[in-house]
Amino acid sequence: MATKSKRGFITIEAELCKGCYLCKSVCPFDLISVSDSLNQKGYYPAQYNEAGIEIESHVCKGCALCAIVCPDIAIEVYRE
Ligand code: SF4
Ligand code: SF4
Repeated sequence: MATKSKRGFITIEAELCKGCYLCKSVCPFDLISVSDSLNQKGYYPAQYNEAGIEIESHVCKGCALCAIVCPDIAIEVYRE
C-alpha cells in the first residue's frame, strides 16, 4: 500500500514578524512571500502563499523549517 504523503500548513502572526525573511529563504517549496501591507511595527511581514487553499492541494509538507528559523516565533506549523 502506498504511503500517503503528508500535507501541512502554517500560520504567520503578521504583528510578530520583523521582516527578516529567513523563513522565506529556507522553505524548500518557496511557499512564503512578502506581504505588500505594513504591520504595526512598520515591517512588511512574511505571508504564506497557500493560506485559504484547501489542504488536499497544499504543497507544504509541514516540515517546520520555516518555524525553526523564525527568531520571533511568529510561525505555527500544522500537519495532517
Ligand atoms: S522568519 Fe519570522 S520574523 Fe523573519 S520574516 Fe519569517 S515570520 Fe517574519
Ligand atoms: S512547513 Fe516546510 S514546506 Fe511548509 S511552509 Fe514551512 S518550510 Fe515550507
